[in-house]
Amino acid sequence: MRYGELAAAAMMCLAAAACGGRPSAGSPAAEAASAATVSAARDVHSYANPAEIRVRHVDLDWDVLFDRKVLRGTATLSLERPPGGRATRLVLDTRNLDIEKVESSRDGSTWANAAFSLAAPEKIFGSALTITLPEDSTRVRIAYATRPEASGLQWLDPPQTAGKKVPFLFTQSQAIHARSWIPLQDSPQVRITYRARVRTPKNLLAVMSANNDPQVARDGEYDFEMPQAIPSYLIALAVGDLSFAPVSARAGVWAERPVVEGAAREFADLEEMIRAAEELFGPYRWERYDVLVLPPSFPFGGMENPRLTFATPTVLAGDKSLVALVAHELAHSWAGNLVTNATWRDFWLNEGMTVYIERRILERVYGTRRAEMEAVLGLQDLRKEIAHLPEKDEILHIDLSGRDPDDGATDVPYEKGALLLRQLEETFGRQRFDRFLRGYFDHFAFQSITTDDFVRYLRANLLDPSPELASRIPVEEWVEKPGIPASAPRPHSDAFARVEAETARWLQGKIPASEVDAGAWSTQEWLHFLRALPVPLGSERMAELDRAYRLSASSNAEITNQWLLMAIASGYEAAYPRLGEFLTSMGRRKFLKPLYEALVKTPAGKERALAIYRKARPTYHPIAVATVDKIVGWGT
Ligand SMILES: [Zn+2]
Repeated sequence: MRYGELAAAAMMCLAAAACGGRPSAGSPAAEAASAATVSAARDVHSYANPAEIRVRHVDLDWDVLFDRKVLRGTATLSLERPPGGRATRLVLDTRNLDIEKVESSRDGSTWANAAFSLAAPEKIFGSALTITLPEDSTRVRIAYATRPEASGLQWLDPPQTAGKKVPFLFTQSQAIHARSWIPLQDSPQVRITYRARVRTPKNLLAVMSANNDPQVARDGEYDFEMPQAIPSYLIALAVGDLSFAPVSARAGVWAERPVVEGAAREFADLEEMIRAAEELFGPYRWERYDVLVLPPSFPFGGMENPRLTFATPTVLAGDKSLVALVAHELAHSWAGNLVTNATWRDFWLNEGMTVYIERRILERVYGTRRAEMEAVLGLQDLRKEIAHLPEKDEILHIDLSGRDPDDGATDVPYEKGALLLRQLEETFGRQRFDRFLRGYFDHFAFQSITTDDFVRYLRANLLDPSPELASRIPVEEWVEKPGIPASAPRPHSDAFARVEAETARWLQGKIPASEVDAGAWSTQEWLHFLRALPVPLGSERMAELDRAYRLSASSNAEITNQWLLMAIASGYEAAYPRLGEFLTSMGRRKFLKPLYEALVKTPAGKERALAIYRKARPTYHPIAVATVDKIVGWGT
């Protein structure tokens, strides 16, 4: 996922002793795990008891009921106990599910009712579902329905879609929302395979984070299989008036019909990106790589659902300038999806590694200049964020006990994590570090690991063999301490240095805005320019820039966001119509949050915010609504 955009929810493990655990010995995963010495980790955000009984596979069967905004059907879980294990109690995570019936089976052919109890709902954590089973049972089948308010599902009415004619459904399971639409062990250290049958209205098409067939017949009944074991937060479903446009033999774009051709043009470099990543870090192991472009209310930038990245349409800039997001989600095919954080306190392993790989892909496909600009912008974001974060949240290996996993989703795991990896690369040399990373992905493939597992592997395979070089890397400080180590790499962009020189010439009055040498500037250079200007800039200077470069009319979402922030700070009224339009046309939290925050700083701004929000609120995702409600004091 791209930062600023993690889902809002959390829970604590109330049965701490039962949390976490090792894969049971004898299973293929257990053999791989012991070979790779993955440690058991306690997951404080799950009620499940995988150490006693572990779910290995799920068969799903649903009717998608748009009229009631409900998924109704069954989840059949295949179970495994450790050798000699006789556990008769299976604990699953759920939130807002209506459980109709639970059955168990020894052989998958005869089924008997199983007793179950659903704990009282904890506001954020959900309800533990405790099922009593015979000690030789191997399967449990749960008949259930979701509720319209399920935090992991968004049901869009036709007006909220691009085509405006039929409804749309999409899921967002990370971090702990899978439990709101599937009863399961909702912890990233429990990896499962899945199959699904999905029935929809006949004119709609369903896709999942599984084997999507570009040629599939649109008949209202769809079958999926995900044969690779993935954590629950990567289970994903979307249903709508979708069509497909190929980019290469193994890559393509799904989107609503009015959007699909433009999206395929924007993402024309997908195959080149996949090849670049493969050359660096080993084969792409998920067969197809497709991107699903969602309706504008998708609250995030992207979500790395395996085989099918979910993406916001706000990256469709028309000039490929915002495709770093796709490089990011693709990079997760190695970092995160192949080697997964075992708990949410190890989130930096997913995101720091992914940001590092994202920039390596950008460098290969678009050149060093582009990659370095992204790195500088990333460091700016990190410094800005750290300036107002409490120290405990500046730590990569963050303690999230009793907290929402969302609290950890700052720039720290992303950009600070990526800086550590960059320091390793700069210190040990690219060739050696790339070999290390490739070995790391092979070694831990399809496993979930902790920060300790990573550090142990790093020491054994890179640091310990070269003590002199290793002494330059303060690993403990990077991982366990707040702030950015003094020895951290300093990305530098010559292009940005030239932008700064132009900025100074204009601010000092040496040239008018129209003579700023911006003709060939990329989106990244524009962002750097705008960010470097004083705040507030003042209405007159805003107007001068706007006349020269028509920034209020930009269709690039990143530039628009930055420009509107400046407009609010400067009271530049000419941009306000665009502000209202922007905030009511998309629901990406990365943009909503800073803009509403900037507005509510003054009484007049707050009034404006409320007027816009009244109109926009019904079109936003529940996750975005939760964020903006708090900012504008909705209902208080
Ligand atoms: Zn990510």
